[in-house]
Amino acid sequence: MIANYHTHTTRCNHAVGTDREYVEAAVAAGMKTLGFSDHSPYIFPEEFGNYYSGFRMRPEAFPGYVQSLTALRDEFKGKIDVHIGVEIEYYPVCFEKTEKFLKDGGVEYFLLGQHFTGNEADAGAIYAGSQPGNREKFVEHTDTIVKCIESGKFFYIAHPDVFRYEADDVFYKETVARICEASKKHNVPLEINLLGYRGRRYYPKPLFWQVAGEVGAPVVIGVDAHDPGMLLDADEVAEAAMRDFAEYGLKYVEPELG
Ligand SMILES: [Zn+2]
Ligand SMILES: [Zn+2]
Repeated sequence: MIANYHTHTTRCNHAVGTDREYVEAAVAAGMKTLGFSDHSPYIFPEEFGNYYSGFRMRPEAFPGYVQSLTALRDEFKGKIDVHIGVEIEYYPVCFEKTEKFLKDGGVEYFLLGQHFTGNEADAGAIYAGSQPGNREKFVEHTDTIVKCIESGKFFYIAHPDVFRYEADDVFYKETVARICEASKKHNVPLEINLLGYRGRRYYPKPLFWQVAGEVGAPVVIGVDAHDPGMLLDADEVAEAAMRDFAEYGLKYVEPELG
């Protein structure tokens, strides 16, 4: 891999290693581009009270994130291109305000990582991977991803197969085809996620990538590094992804920030 745009930091409370160690590991692995995309801070509206999201950066930590990555970008110039992004969910009631906060603060790109339906603070929201979800929530989750692709706000879609729906394969394929077709039409790539292979998770889900291959959607590889070591051995884990590229006839693209 010469580029990876899916990298976390300790600010999300479930990753390890310093920012510098991630950059050094990417250089050691021979990468030319490293994009950081930690779980985004979110500006939740007052109606959520003092809701605290435990798996993402706090807004107070955001200036330090940008400062640290900017300093590393300057220091490593000529060796590797460092970019500043976030991985973020689309939550209808508070995305726009959060988006402005992030852009004003220096974020260059957004990966959509839709880990929940609705808003995570809502009583009715469900975690995409928590259980084989129901049809209604699966459709809602899919609608959100399609809308985000159409919005043009997202650099690519992280693990588009993160929603766990196993009840009906025919319905699954029809539904995810909408994601794949939107991706192709708007040229917003779909990410095959190395953390999924590494953890032998329920994704990458073969049925999803079969559809992506049939539709001809653009596909990128993302490390989803939560540890600098995951950059060091990314090429080894990517071999599993390359087998799926061959198996499903996936169209590989190297994303480039405009
Ligand atoms: Zn994470
Ligand atoms: Zn991630």
